Amino acid sequence: PGNQLPFDSTKKTIVVLGSGWGATSLLKSLDTEDYNVIVISPKNYFLFTPLLPSVAVGTLNPRSIIQPTRYITRHKKRMVSVIEGTATEVDPTAKTVTFTDSSEIQGAISKTTIPYDYLVYAVGAENQTFGIPGVREYGCFMKELHDAETLQRRFMDCVETAAFPGQSEEEIDRLLHVIVVGGGPTGVELSGELHDFLEDDLKSWYPELAGKVRLTLVEAMPSVLPMFSKKLIDYTVSTFNEEKIEVLTKTMVKEVKEKTVVLQRPDKEIVEVPYGVLVWAAGNVGRQITRDLMAKFTEAQTNKRGLTVDDHLALNGSNGSIYAIGDCTSTPYAATAQVASQEGAYLARMFKLMAKRDAVAEQVYKLQQEVTLRGDGEGRKGELEKLEKALEKAANIRPFHYSHQGSLAYIGSDKAIADLTIFKENFATGGVATFLFWRSAYISTLFSLRNRILVATDWLKVKLFGRDVSRD
Ligand code: FAD
Ligand code: NAD
Repeated sequence: PGNQLPFDSTKKTIVVLGSGWGATSLLKSLDTEDYNVIVISPKNYFLFTPLLPSVAVGTLNPRSIIQPTRYITRHKKRMVSVIEGTATEVDPTAKTVTFTDSSEIQGAISKTTIPYDYLVYAVGAENQTFGIPGVREYGCFMKELHDAETLQRRFMDCVETAAFPGQSEEEIDRLLHVIVVGGGPTGVELSGELHDFLEDDLKSWYPELAGKVRLTLVEAMPSVLPMFSKKLIDYTVSTFNEEKIEVLTKTMVKEVKEKTVVLQRPDKEIVEVPYGVLVWAAGNVGRQITRDLMAKFTEAQTNKRGLTVDDHLALNGSNGSIYAIGDCTSTPYAATAQVASQEGAYLARMFKLMAKRDAVAEQVYKLQQEVTLRGDGEGRKGELEKLEKALEKAANIRPFHYSHQGSLAYIGSDKAIADLTIFKENFATGGVATFLFWRSAYISTLFSLRNRILVATDWLKVKLFGRDVSRD
């Protein structure tokens, strides 16, 4: 009765948690002929995170960089069940997942538990705040679609409030001071985008205020962008100097208050700096459900940085029933979309090979039964040996191998930086040509033609008419 999940009892069931880079890449390539597939995620869409900072300044429309998960699964051979829900508990012993409807509207049923044969755990990570007071209360983030929309709204509110008649100079300076915390790629790209918005649009629409807007990037470590080569770090810092983005390295945020941020400077002096908008881009930490899952494997999961997996991406301790990919894991690779998507695609291939292996194992089992029961002749034994060899081959599935394509980041003023690996050679390049490469690389990586057209149209609209400064 009611809403039942599509189910074929002869096939194993894969439950996928998440609809981000890892999960979506898996779903794109997974052969659904072999398995019942159920996807559970609190978002019923995939978010193309690399272009999120562009949404925060109105270069791109939020809808242009998302793709409903159902668009991705609808062309599959067998129906995939897509459920908008938040997984709250994984029981690795009973092999079940419990999930809830965490959206605004709740029906009579809002919590349920389903079994899985294989679980693909791809829930990503959340914002790391290190428990620093005031971050969640007063800061904005740059992780989800609504974060970019909130930042855009808040920033424009600050600009309009600064334009309010009679506002004091001191208050105008505070309101127009944007602080970005975290000199990783998220903080750097966002700073670059904010600079473009200021230069290209605010200067025309708010000429009396634009000169007073200040952008500050705060980084606790001695350098921004540690994953890029020294040459590109220097290029970024010099570009930021030209763009009048103040870069404060070796400076740590200690507390965020409603209108000021408490900083510890390199000489350990504590200063309080007024701001209008503060964006927190200080990295990732595991979600509560991930910490709970780790606690269920007291011996196999002891790495505080994330879930550990074997070389086939199976969660250590799970006997091959749980596979973990992307930002929720702790691997030698960085927490990037590039890694998560390669892991997702690998799992899709592996599930195909596992289905083949299981089919051969079934044949072997049947033949073994026959040979044992009927004491069958030599002919069948030869057949059995052949099949057993085939099974050995099918069971030998290659481990995951990550192929690094390079790192790319946008730094404002139509400039990007790229550390590329081409034919095992490294190339470090920065500038306007790299920016064109950055754009073409991202437009081709977008998962659908629909998104490509939407993003390209947004870029064209901004070129023709500028960004929209209205605030809803
Ligand atoms: P995510 O993509 O975060 O997906 C996690 C999914 O799990 C989401 O759909 C989420 O809704 C869902 N979920 C959360 N909780 C639950 C739950 N309890 N139950 C079920 N589902 C759940 N990487 C690059 O390589 N290049 C870039 O240019 C780049 N730019 C970036 C820009 C920004 C602004 C950000 C924030 C990140 C960027 N990254 C980039 C990093 C990249 O986005 C991540 O590494 C990637 O998203 C990781 O993929 P994932 O599948 O592990 O997690
Ligand atoms: P990150 O972890 O790369 O950088 C966060 C930075 O914040 C660190 O440099 C850290 O020192 C700093 N920080 C932490 N606490 C601080 C404090 N209290 N005060 C001041 N500074 C503080 O985080 P990210 O930039 O969000 O990136 C997350 C992941 O996503 C990374 O793996 C990154 O490679 C990936 N990513 C890649 C791209 C790209 O390739 N273009 C873009 C965005 C994100």
